[in-house]
Amino acid sequence: MFGEHFRGVTMKKPFVAGNWKMNTDSHSAVSLVEGVVSGCEETAGSKVDVAVCPPFVYLQQVGKALSSSLVALGAQDVYFEQKGAFTGEVSSAMLKDVGCTYAICGHSERRHVIGETDELINKKVHAAILGGLLPILCVGELLEERKANKTTDVVTRQLKKGLMGIGPEKMLAVTIAYEPVWAIGTGLTATPGQAQDVHALIRGLLAEMYDRKLAGEIRIQYGGSVKPDNTGELMGQEDVNGLLVGGASLKADDFVAIVKAAARAT
Ligand code: PEP
Repeated sequence: MFGEHFRGVTMKKPFVAGNWKMNTDSHSAVSLVEGVVSGCEETAGSKVDVAVCPPFVYLQQVGKALSSSLVALGAQDVYFEQKGAFTGEVSSAMLKDVGCTYAICGHSERRHVIGETDELINKKVHAAILGGLLPILCVGELLEERKANKTTDVVTRQLKKGLMGIGPEKMLAVTIAYEPVWAIGTGLTATPGQAQDVHALIRGLLAEMYDRKLAGEIRIQYGGSVKPDNTGELMGQEDVNGLLVGGASLKADDFVAIVKAAARAT
């Protein structure tokens, strides 16, 4: 529906990340990550790459609690400048310093609540890579855009602008997360077919922007009301290589069940 299906690709290990958003406190953040670490002992790093993205203020504590595991640490955002008079912002160097591997860039809540533009998000993707982080670039359409048949246009624009100036070598550091905004935190999940259509579109675009081989190596996560019981069919889609999980990542049991279901589905 959204573009040429992209077949014959060599997929990397699935990648499941939990976005805790503005939730937890210093105590619950540590007990949550402890639950994730113990539940994912057999899977994290070997069958599935797993990351948790706590609020900035808890990164260090959470990082310490997962340091003897293969669960990785991610940040929910990153600023594009390295240091200086940017009150309230956090640089990629700072995130690296506290043990982050990943940084989410352009989450829909930052686009639509905070007002981030494609240009700003692109600077963040560059800064993340420059600072040694692996960016997760989020793209996805609003409900009215889907209803107006603008999904292809919106996702194409967000992807191309978000990746402006990112050459093939740097692109290997990037994960794309397709998150239809109407499915985030709403309990509405894209059907596996809807997710696959947009993931295939994204892979096709990456093949045009880079090449087919590289496009096949990029992981494309789905996000939007992922739960343990819909993980299997979402991960069963050819171009779905992982999941970005919000609400369900706040319960260790649910997040662990999602990671295990993702491991089984691939
Ligand atoms: C998200 O925050 O990226 C997300 C997908 O949230 P939820 O799983 O709660 O829909």
